[in-house]
Amino acid sequence: MQFETRAIHAGQPIDPTTGAVIPPIHLTTTFERDADGGYARGYSYIRAGTPNRTMLEQCLAALEDGADAMCFASGLAAAHAIFQTLAPGDHVIAPDDAYFGVSRLLLDVMHPWGIAVSVVDMSDPAAVTAALRPSTRLVWIESPSNPLLKIADIAAISAIARAAGAWCVVDNTWATPVLQRPLALGADAVLHATTKYLGGHSDALGGAVVVRADWPPAERIRFLQSHGGAVAAPFDCWLILRGIQTLAYRVRAHTEHATRVADALVRHPRVARVHYPALPTHPGHAIAMRQMRAGGGMLSVEIHGGAAAALEVAARVQLFTRATSLGGIESLIEHRASVEGPATRTPPGLLRVSVGLEHPDDLIADLMQALGDE
Ligand SMILES: *Cc1c(COP(=O)(O)O)cnc(C)c1O
Repeated sequence: MQFETRAIHAGQPIDPTTGAVIPPIHLTTTFERDADGGYARGYSYIRAGTPNRTMLEQCLAALEDGADAMCFASGLAAAHAIFQTLAPGDHVIAPDDAYFGVSRLLLDVMHPWGIAVSVVDMSDPAAVTAALRPSTRLVWIESPSNPLLKIADIAAISAIARAAGAWCVVDNTWATPVLQRPLALGADAVLHATTKYLGGHSDALGGAVVVRADWPPAERIRFLQSHGGAVAAPFDCWLILRGIQTLAYRVRAHTEHATRVADALVRHPRVARVHYPALPTHPGHAIAMRQMRAGGGMLSVEIHGGAAAALEVAARVQLFTRATSLGGIESLIEHRASVEGPATRTPPGLLRVSVGLEHPDDLIADLMQALGDE
């Protein structure tokens, strides 16, 4: 079945008891035990499993061509579960501009817990090879990266990881399975902040790990889901699954709009640089076009004049909303360096843009007036 069809049907049967076409939301925390003491219907207690979570997990596994998926309360809870499969003394290689929350989790939570972390520029696979140690257990990829939209060669880096006996996990939040399938490129597992494009409407928090067949840590992640307790709520699962049904169509429109916005920004004299992988000038363009179907809905723009100039542009937008997050129907703009604080590696003049589903003419007009029409 094609992707669009799986998004609407995988894991989403007609409700067997009522015939409901759209799945009901099961808010119950506990489930009846059979007279013989078993749970033949598959559910016992909400933390261990709940029907809305099962539906979402089955659908996500189908969309990423994975063997299984585990849903969590947030993207970071899902990442945390992956990191918790490691043991103190293990070494992780991560990108130098990974999602800020993932970097903080690695450096401020996992490192004190005994995990060694090397941060490298993953647009260069040789940097990954150079960082390998005998204790390297995990190579974490994010492509496109946040907020510089750097491109990592997923096939090359997963091969390097495999040869070194390390796992390779790809944060596929920005590309979504519509544009990029890391498992087919050799990765062992995929992370999603379902909070973003999969939910798609900025109204539900969630995360997921999708795993290839026979990936040894999968069983431990399933255990950590239930016993770590950072599980997704039924209503959030329902909202995210509802968002997924239109994912392919939304991502196509996000991409079309982002392409037009990038083209308009590139021409503006106050713009120093536009980071968008579909632009031929992007350093990762060739790899991006090989491993992604299109450039996606995210871009960053660097304004001449540094932080003051960028903040001034952000202050003047009227249709874009100044807010963090991404992947929703509405367009957002954010000055990342001021959000990330003193530890930031983000250029001071950079604005990150999540291009939404409003009409692109209106979006471009808003950015042009904020930049000052020539
Ligand atoms: C948002 C995001 C996360 C974290 O997800 P939460 O649901 O906010 O915990 C991780 N990775 C990327 C790329 C993200 O954009």
